[in-house]
Amino acid sequence: DLPVVAIVGRPNVGKSTLFNRLVGRRQALVADTPGVTRDRKEGLALIRGRYVRLIDTAGLEEAAPDTLFGRMRASSEGAVQNAALVLFCVDARAGITPSDEHFAQWVRRQNRPVLLLANKAEGRSGASSALEAYALGLGEPIAVSAEHGEGLADLMAEIVDHL
Ligand code: GDP
Ligand code: MG
Repeated sequence: DLPVVAIVGRPNVGKSTLFNRLVGRRQALVADTPGVTRDRKEGLALIRGRYVRLIDTAGLEEAAPDTLFGRMRASSEGAVQNAALVLFCVDARAGITPSDEHFAQWVRRQNRPVLLLANKAEGRSGASSALEAYALGLGEPIAVSAEHGEGLADLMAEIVDHL
């Protein structure tokens, strides 16, 4: 079985953009799994010569529980429990929000290997805006820009190191 890598984080941090970057056209190769909730998207990603099953926890607004944290948790629970590696994403431009902190606490308790991604860190100020994410206690933030394709080589090296 291929290792599962789950992308989690609050809405709008860029999870789906990152998913599309890493999966590209191979998304079409993964058939819909019956019974898999439609708020999760899966695709094959080829990362430094290794295939992984990448999961984008999306569509949080459609999930049942009535708080943002409840929806994030419900959407992420199955994916994280099966994950060889969790990519916890924050928005480096927006800074760390209370929902990031709350969700990070939950992710830490899942005891899965986690990489902390500070997305939207493109350009000259990118690396410094990513530093704030240190405070989450999930290790050193990896500055990336999913939209502009920056920091992805470093990210992919980190991912295979943690599989
Ligand atoms: P999700 O809700 O976490 O899946 O976030 P999306 O992938 O839908 O992205 C939310 C918004 O952030 C969209 O408008 C994206 O275009 C934008 N976005 C995603 N990645 C980046 C990035 O690296 N830099 C910037 N500036 N915007 C980004
Ligand atoms: Mg999304």
